Amino acid sequence: MRGRLWTVTVMAVKMGLTQAIGGDAGIDYRLMRETALAAWRKGKVSISELCDAQPELRRNAEFCGRSLESPCPVCESDGLVEVIYVFGPRLPGHGRCVTSDREMTRLNARKQELRGYVVEVCTDCGWNHLTMSRSLGGCSVSAVEDVEGVGG
Ligand SMILES: [Zn+2]
Repeated sequence: MRGRLWTVTVMAVKMGLTQAIGGDAGIDYRLMRETALAAWRKGKVSISELCDAQPELRRNAEFCGRSLESPCPVCESDGLVEVIYVFGPRLPGHGRCVTSDREMTRLNARKQELRGYVVEVCTDCGWNHLTMSRSLGGCSVSAVEDVEGVGG
């Protein structure tokens, strides 16, 4: 199941284009997350499919992730973090992994519209899922506060 995150991300970009226009409301993927976890609990999805974080995502999780208070929904370790990716003009094709509030503020001050994605990753078992996306920069002025609020 290589690249599941990116499949989800591409899907999110498509959803984002239609849903994000006209406001800075974020898109919440918690329902999809719960669906994935429920499928695993019912035995429909194997743990290797569920916990398939790619090496780069794991690395980003270790070095750029913000710790979450809740335990990993799969292995229940405290290695659960959130990684924030931002996509847009003049950013790498694979997205910028945002490591600081200052960087986020700077990105949000851009005139071009950007898209931020929050991915939950377990550094222990490799569980990963998109949890939220929202627009940044452009006309979206208040978005940064909400993104910064995620995970402390
Ligand atoms: Zn885990």
